[in-house]
Amino acid sequence: MARRPMMAANWKMNKTVTEAQNYTAALLPRAADAEGVDVAVFVPFTCLHEVGRMAEDSPVIAGAQNFYYEDSGAYTGEVSVPMLKDVLARAVLVGHSERREIFGETDTLVARKTKRAVEADLLPVVCVGETKEERDSGGMWEKVSGQVSRVLEELDEVGGDGIVFAYEPIWAIGTGDTATPDDAQDAIGRIRELLREERGEDFADGVRILYGGSVKPANVAEIMGQNDVDGALVGGASLEVDSFVELIEAAR
Ligand code: PGA
Repeated sequence: MARRPMMAANWKMNKTVTEAQNYTAALLPRAADAEGVDVAVFVPFTCLHEVGRMAEDSPVIAGAQNFYYEDSGAYTGEVSVPMLKDVLARAVLVGHSERREIFGETDTLVARKTKRAVEADLLPVVCVGETKEERDSGGMWEKVSGQVSRVLEELDEVGGDGIVFAYEPIWAIGTGDTATPDDAQDAIGRIRELLREERGEDFADGVRILYGGSVKPANVAEIMGQNDVDGALVGGASLEVDSFVELIEAAR
């Protein structure tokens, strides 16, 4: 089954509302020709309403970088799924390694959040990946398969188009140290195999699995050239619109 590639920008904690407006205004006409590629931008909460509004009638998917799984209540500092939908978000990152490592998000929290996003038809991009120490000690697959399995355990019915995974080895994020295309294919191929074992052929063939970690115009083609890699989640190289557009073009 041919999966539609996805190129996703993760702005992390960057950009004011004005900067977000300028970026989105420059991106929209250029992403409109991105035939055959889903383009998503995961922006800070403070910019989301504006980016969501600007992108509303365009193919660009506005997304959030985080949320909590309860819909309302006494959760100071948190933002819920209905709130994200209210400001026109259509997708959300779940369990980015910076959330897991810096803010202590557990596999169980990530799984609950993913379930809530799926129920609400907000496309979750679930991030998984190992540290350098885990890779060096041969523990990559134990870590990654555990993260993926915990999410699947919590999910009821979901089609292959209702969820996206992103394999982001932590040692490759923001370091300039990209995984080799073979490493990316190896991990992502194994994730797809696990999805096949757990949820069957149609699901595994339909789910998009992105690679993330120091993707840039110079290395995107060989990463995208791998069989099981359906796109990329990009931090640093997505902050400039020209460079992000180059990545989108490479994904076509
Ligand atoms: P990077 O970040 O492209 O700057 O390595 C990727 C990510 O954290 O999603």
